[in-house]
Amino acid sequence: MAGTLYLVPTPIGNLGDLSPRAAETLAAVDFIAAEDTRVSVKILNHLGLKKPMVSYYRHNTETSGPQILRRLLEGENCALVTDAGTPAISDPGEELVALCVEAGVTVVPLPGPCALVTALAASGLPTGRFTFEGFLAMNKKNRRDHLDSLRGETRTMVFYEAPHKLVATLADLAAVFGPERRVALCRELTKLHEEVVRTTLGQAVERYREQPPRGEFVLVVEGAAPAEEGPVLTLEQAVERVCALYREEQLPMKEAARQVAAETGFQKKELYRLAVQR
Ligand code: SAM
Repeated sequence: MAGTLYLVPTPIGNLGDLSPRAAETLAAVDFIAAEDTRVSVKILNHLGLKKPMVSYYRHNTETSGPQILRRLLEGENCALVTDAGTPAISDPGEELVALCVEAGVTVVPLPGPCALVTALAASGLPTGRFTFEGFLAMNKKNRRDHLDSLRGETRTMVFYEAPHKLVATLADLAAVFGPERRVALCRELTKLHEEVVRTTLGQAVERYREQPPRGEFVLVVEGAAPAEEGPVLTLEQAVERVCALYREEQLPMKEAARQVAAETGFQKKELYRLAVQR
């Protein structure tokens, strides 16, 4: 009979957040698949455990994944842990879970620390509906497309960001959503220097430009105000508006499509494609 893959969340800073069930699971499994064995061994030491470990990280998923699956199919039980938080949330794990699901291996998720949920809960922004956006791409075009797709987003948006890119990301967010948009900058959650700064994107840019930040961040950004009651454009009318901006205001077609996409919620690519056919 095949074994089970356990998804074991680990603390995002405070070791006290490792649950008794997580500890029991780590003690019970046959082996642990870890994003960085040097990080995970500290948790095992804290628990007084010794376990065989294999590494499963972003750049070896294609080779390590099938090896872990083979052991599971042979009947061993495995705990997947990543450097911090819930495996498969913006860290390796997603592919392994998919592989196991496809092969019919049971996947048991343990609830536990996760930076996005912790930040959202503390943000003071609406939590009823939210969208998790993970990390923005480094590539300029992908980054811009990602942000453009969020222009009309009314749900609260949650982003992960590395500290050295925070100022650039805040500036990009302010450019797309406007400097008045509220943001909660959740830094070093559960750690000694935990801090939640609730401000606007414009003020955040000012604050951190002068004083570059340290530590890990989650950015929770307020959604757009629901569109005011007004004429709702059909796709046909939206394309017509793109053409009008192009003809009458001499906007480049791409820029016109971007603007109308932001106003109407239609896909920029679709508007562009239809407008150039006219
Ligand atoms: N799987 C993890 C989870 O469940 O949250 C996320 C892993 S992702 C590679 C790492 C990112 O999570 C960091 O860049 C940061 O944005 C966020 N993060 C992790 N720990 C954090 C903490 N203690 N405080 C604030 N953000 C944190």
